[in-house]
Amino acid sequence: MKLRFYGADRAVTGSCHCVEINGKRILVDCGLQQGRDELEENALPFAAGGVDAVVLTHAHVDHSGRLPLLVKNGFGGKIFCTRLTGELLGIMLRDAAHIQESDAEYVNRKGQRAGRSPVEPLYSLRDAEAALERLVCVEYGQEFSPAEGIRARFADAGHLLGSAYAEVWAAEEGETKKLVFSGDIGNVDQPVIRDPSFLTEADFVVMESTYGDREHDESERYDRVTALAEVIERTIRRGGNVVIPSFAVGRTQELLYIIREIKERGLVTYNPHFRVCVDSPLAREATRIYAGDLAGYVDPDAEELRIGGVKMFEFEGLELVTTTDDSKALNFDPEPKVILSASGMCDAGRIRHHLKYNLWRPNSSIVFVGYQAQGSLGRRILDGATEVKLFGEDVAVRAEIVRLPGMSSHADRSHLLDWIGHFSPRPAHVFVVHGDAEVAPGFAQELEREGFSAHAPKYCEEYDLLLGRVTREGVEPEKPKQPAAGGFKDSPAFTALVELGQKLLEVIRHNRGGANRDLKKFGAEIQKLIDKWDR
Ligand SMILES: [Zn+2]
Ligand SMILES: [Zn+2]
Repeated sequence: MKLRFYGADRAVTGSCHCVEINGKRILVDCGLQQGRDELEENALPFAAGGVDAVVLTHAHVDHSGRLPLLVKNGFGGKIFCTRLTGELLGIMLRDAAHIQESDAEYVNRKGQRAGRSPVEPLYSLRDAEAALERLVCVEYGQEFSPAEGIRARFADAGHLLGSAYAEVWAAEEGETKKLVFSGDIGNVDQPVIRDPSFLTEADFVVMESTYGDREHDESERYDRVTALAEVIERTIRRGGNVVIPSFAVGRTQELLYIIREIKERGLVTYNPHFRVCVDSPLAREATRIYAGDLAGYVDPDAEELRIGGVKMFEFEGLELVTTTDDSKALNFDPEPKVILSASGMCDAGRIRHHLKYNLWRPNSSIVFVGYQAQGSLGRRILDGATEVKLFGEDVAVRAEIVRLPGMSSHADRSHLLDWIGHFSPRPAHVFVVHGDAEVAPGFAQELEREGFSAHAPKYCEEYDLLLGRVTREGVEPEKPKQPAAGGFKDSPAFTALVELGQKLLEVIRHNRGGANRDLKKFGAEIQKLIDKWDR
């Protein structure tokens, strides 16, 4: 009876764990490793054909994004998930496949010119469709058997619509062990979804630790409906747009739920009929699912609205934008409005266009509602950057920058400790996953101090559940490649060249406003240099 760690080990993406009993193997999650070289980093470290079934905790791609690859590589079993996870997965996997296909196309277009042989996408839309055909949807609390000798059940994790913990009972040699996989543990008091539930029994727990070193701000307990209404009121009054970078699935719908309440209570008096444009094809699809049958999946407030027949994510003035033409038209329409667009951290997607057209306008507002990772454009703006680059252009930051705290979808350190503290008696061992390279081991140590037996497994580690010890060591996560850093020092000639390059950019700026004829001549000379030296 073995547990193997195939992803999100001392890292936050790529969740994938394997339980093996009596020669049967099930995976809990099969997520995409994001943020690095996705083609290289996402090879599966096991034979896909040897997997009997998958138990999926929720639809986010860092938990589900390698399912099409699994099927492409020969997996022929069933994928178990809750009904709403199944519905959301339909749009998430197709979207992920689309991104894989267009990324490969982009690499190939560049590669062709450089004489490189073409790369294949990690998987295609067809692979995504094939994975979706393997779905078996079950309700919370309903027991199922993913493979012989294994029983399983889902409980609400309060992280995303349909999100779940997986309870797994494995029987071998007359012994049954109960494992709990936390998936992602939700935050309390979020709109629409329920608070995360508590489980009390387990021999082993595999738990996430995204916020294992952080507390959500105390000041986050405030009325976010009124706070957002105030931002909208003052922005519209001064003739600007409210731009909200937001994850397409989950966060966007939670915001629509809040805006519906703002409208219903008439909290924006200057123009109660203000327009709200959701500019993201994925968000539009997700909103359609949220508008469907949510029975058994939402918190008491939303349940009351649902029973009363209220359309929770619809209101007067809401526009779901799909085409790029309509998206562009928003930038040239002078009417003040609210624009919700992805990505949530501003590093990709249509939001970048809206930032380009609004960041420099002192009458607009940019509202951040979620965590902005170090290094993301969203973080730089929040940290007070006065100028940012968008599509090669410098854009001044003059808009009002607002942070609406309290809308995180992950439990913080105290809530994680509270969650694991509900197990009685304590589990024999806790495996800490889904946390950064320093955070996961740190949180495991914290658990040890609290009297738990715990550690943060490394990638490909194997643990024997009956022997109660590691039977194969894992490997350290690879550090992201940083060119010209650590050990490798640039030559003085190269450093001088980089300085000259920066000087050239300054000279270009000094020519702003020059005659077109001169600018073209200057450009042609630079192009000549590029053609000569880009080799
Ligand atoms: Zn998640
Ligand atoms: Zn996750």
